Amino acid sequence: MFIEKFKVDSPNVKYTDSHIESSYQYETTELVHATRDGASEWVVRPKTVQYNFKTDVRVPKLGVMLVGWGGNNGSTLTAGVIANREGISWATKDKVQQANYFGSLTQASTVRVGSYNGEEIYAPFKSLLPMVNPDDTVFGGWDISNMNLADSMARAKVLDIDLQKQLRPYMESMVPLPGIYDQDFIAANQSTRANNVIKGNKKEQVQQVIKDIREFKEKNKVDKIVVLWTANTERYSNVVVGLNDTSENLLSAVDRNEAEISPSTLFALACVLEGVPFINGSPQNTFVPGLIDLAINRNSLIGGDDFKSGQTKIKSVLVDFLVGAGIKPTSIVSYNHLGNNDGMNLSAPQTFRSKEISKSNVVDDMVSSNAILYEPGEHPDHVIVIKYVPYVGDSKRAMDEYTAEIFMGGKQTFVLHNTCEDSLLAAPIILDLVLLAELSSRIELKSGGEDKFHSFHPVATILSYLTKAPLVPPGTPVVNALAKQRAMLENILRACIGLAPENNMLMEYK
Ligand code: NAD
Repeated sequence: MFIEKFKVDSPNVKYTDSHIESSYQYETTELVHATRDGASEWVVRPKTVQYNFKTDVRVPKLGVMLVGWGGNNGSTLTAGVIANREGISWATKDKVQQANYFGSLTQASTVRVGSYNGEEIYAPFKSLLPMVNPDDTVFGGWDISNMNLADSMARAKVLDIDLQKQLRPYMESMVPLPGIYDQDFIAANQSTRANNVIKGNKKEQVQQVIKDIREFKEKNKVDKIVVLWTANTERYSNVVVGLNDTSENLLSAVDRNEAEISPSTLFALACVLEGVPFINGSPQNTFVPGLIDLAINRNSLIGGDDFKSGQTKIKSVLVDFLVGAGIKPTSIVSYNHLGNNDGMNLSAPQTFRSKEISKSNVVDDMVSSNAILYEPGEHPDHVIVIKYVPYVGDSKRAMDEYTAEIFMGGKQTFVLHNTCEDSLLAAPIILDLVLLAELSSRIELKSGGEDKFHSFHPVATILSYLTKAPLVPPGTPVVNALAKQRAMLENILRACIGLAPENNMLMEYK
């Protein structure tokens, strides 16, 4: 059974006009290495930590500024939100299609909230805490191409033509602001696109982005802004001591107009200086150590890297299943071909390398969780291939072969073939990233030992479910397994309304 919304009735939860406050017992464990009768042993002690959560329920009017707004993802998301807001339907060869938010965790998935008369009751994920309604968001952003969003949508060749015709009047007047272009960081094949660029040195470029954010906020009368990079994949920046390793060094490197500071780092820097959340949807190392340092010092939210949309999402489910089942994946070969502008940009070795890195580490946590299967340091062979095939456009093909060792030396091989429009997978993920980043900035918490509420750590691990290579604060474990990432997010939101984590024990029926 499905319910639209619910309220929690508990002595540990208080609803006021401005906040939901919850008092929460976090059940965890503590490990100690003890010695008994001369022999050492591991001892696990259950541990309960008291937390208080306070969520501001006053949902702001949100502005979403995309870097790479006129790209396939940017134009598809903007179109999709307008189509939903306006209730647009269109004829396809199969049926009359209604706009929807399929593929969005917040808008189209549900959570179990309990049982009623022996039936499982589910509610929308978005009903856990008050979230911005995507229909009410205002879109804007930057692009190094000055093409308006209606033409960008046509260039992307993602949406049905009947839908495009209906959307055109809404999107023609949307023109991206000039972006920061540096041909050293993206593929040379992108240069013909770059007709809309911010002039000046790096410091002036950062100042211009800050000015753009302020003007957008003022003009559109929005309360808050979230900025997200969905521009082309850049090459990795070199991390150099004295250049971008600390916040001071990064800021003075920008003052000196140092060549090795990438456009994405400049955008992120502008956002951190302005206290605006910044999310990186591409694989490059935008978040050089100096930038992470600055974001932590200024308590400004950063999240990334690289949308987890298709192949990697499956990988982080499949390998988790195999290793969790006691089966040993020994070889993972992932082959892709795509024909959109992202694919063209990734055909250059330096930008491909960024993608290869972000796709490569996604099974590490699962492999290292099972020392029965893997020797220390042992890892499955893991190869990533990406080819540019213009004809297939945005319709990406991903072919994966997984080989695993099973019982008594046997081998098991899975082959997967996935075809679908890349941007239709990425757009709802962008939406979730933005909505969850905004929500997390309204949540405060304190643990038993603390006297003051504070926000989450500015490096937003809560967004990990949506990213291929989750950015985590120094010294924090990286979790790639998809079910764990989803459970983390859901259980934290449940804690904010005083509900225990979903434990799947169903003791009511035992
Ligand atoms: P796209 O090439 O269609 O769009 C990127 C846009 O960014 C272009 O319009 C380009 O003009 C613009 N741009 C480039 N450099 C810029 C800069 N410095 N400032 C402002 N604008 C700039 O690509 P896409 O398919 O929309 O993908 C965008 C990014 O998302 C890529 O890096 C891609 O790897 C990443 N990504 C996509 C998916 C997916 O499923 N679609 C998944 C993971 C990651």
